[in-house]
Amino acid sequence: MAKIEKIKKKILFVTSEAHPLIKTGGLADVSGSLPKALAELSQDIRLIMPNYQALKTNGPVRFLCTVRIDNRDVNLLETRMPDSQVIVWLVDCAEFFNYPGNPYTDEQGNAWPNNAERFALFCRVAVICAMDRINQDWKADIVHCNDWQTGLVPALLSLEHDRPATVFTIHNMAYQGIFPADQVVAINLPGQLWHPDGVEFNHMLSFIKGGLVYADRVTTVSPTYALEIQTPEFGYGLEGLLTHRKDVLVGIINGIDMDQWNPETDAYINPKFNATTLTKKTQNKTKLQKKLGLPVNAKVPVVALISRLVEQKGIDMVIDCLPEMMSMSMQFILLGAGEKDFEQQLQELALLHPDKMALTIGYDEGLAHAIEAGADIFLMPSRFEPCGLNQMYSQRYGTIPIVRKTGGLADTVIDAIPETIAQSTATGVVFNEASAGSLMEAIKRTMLLYTNREAWDNMQVDAMKKDFSWQRSAEQYLELYQGI
Ligand code: ADP
Repeated sequence: MAKIEKIKKKILFVTSEAHPLIKTGGLADVSGSLPKALAELSQDIRLIMPNYQALKTNGPVRFLCTVRIDNRDVNLLETRMPDSQVIVWLVDCAEFFNYPGNPYTDEQGNAWPNNAERFALFCRVAVICAMDRINQDWKADIVHCNDWQTGLVPALLSLEHDRPATVFTIHNMAYQGIFPADQVVAINLPGQLWHPDGVEFNHMLSFIKGGLVYADRVTTVSPTYALEIQTPEFGYGLEGLLTHRKDVLVGIINGIDMDQWNPETDAYINPKFNATTLTKKTQNKTKLQKKLGLPVNAKVPVVALISRLVEQKGIDMVIDCLPEMMSMSMQFILLGAGEKDFEQQLQELALLHPDKMALTIGYDEGLAHAIEAGADIFLMPSRFEPCGLNQMYSQRYGTIPIVRKTGGLADTVIDAIPETIAQSTATGVVFNEASAGSLMEAIKRTMLLYTNREAWDNMQVDAMKKDFSWQRSAEQYLELYQGI
């Protein structure tokens, strides 16, 4: 590791969202944490993102310079990530970014009609900064781009002499930034990039292809997802290209915020606990049962689920299993919001089983922490999961996850089979097939494990010891940068 730290790189991290400045999903968590972790490894890293109206900075913002692009004056502003020294450059173009709504949609959830132009302009400014055409005496060695909104950066940089190396990270293949071909003219795309081996995809303009075709390295957020996206089921038509680039494609698991999700210091839970004070976890269980109106019983296994209620997360499979689960000795807690159909079916089941099932429809950060602290078992039967966070939070809180063997779930949970239990490596229960039958089998297997107190306690301790820190992931990114 000491060897890695010595070589200091100038890294420009290009992203369309970063927590806590602005967030719509997991990309913001990565963009908020990874640059900080790389800075802690002595890297000279700067972040560049659009200056949206909803962006929340809490430190000074200064004017850096103005660049002229396609007959527009675009200002560059400079601030810092909250609680860190990481410099953030904000691309300030009122015509494209200064309106209400989120980075991609209006307040009704409709995609902005000029998204291709908005993010093409953002990419152009990122290229200008990376090449130091803004005269800051800071030319990037590495440009790290994230998701389709930044896909044109590696493509445009490929046309430059003496350019920085480029990395493109896929956070979810389901979003590709595909636009009608007439946008090629609207965004003034250099002709060399417009062909089927470039950013053209079925006669449409594909932003993500700019990253997948032209970046020196392509990464995604887990090793298993890196393999899965090379298949038609997960590649959405780009599996051939990804297979073609497999030698430069790697999966690196995201970290979690180890301060926010720490049972020893978590402000949302009481009492706090660690792997040597698991009886205090039981006190959290009792409090949780009381809070949610379930019978207080330390012995009955509490199974929990916290999730967006969408098909990707396997909610339909859980609904199919619930009648049988309710006939078993267990309690079930669910916190989530999403598709109305799922919400309604769950509400009907909760009404039928008030003594066994507690349903909270909505988004509640505090309750999510209390559930992780108080539950025994966590369900995550996703159909696909590029990385996933809750299975890692669960392990840190000694809450044994039941997960489907896909993406980041397969890479972060070790199935409890006799061999792994004997070796003290088991941290959860893993099942293969995306079906209610397989999920039900996994639940039954977990219930059996739960009756063996000693083995269960050991598994909790082993799960709590796992290192899901950002530092670990940042070291892998650093190794990747240095290998280019
Ligand atoms: P995804 O990003 O696909 O939704 P992840 O597991 O990667 O799935 O991350 C989901 C994050 O959102 C987790 O931190 C989870 O705790 C949180 N979350 C999801 N639904 C809720 C909810 N209803 N209330 C509180 N937190 C939630």
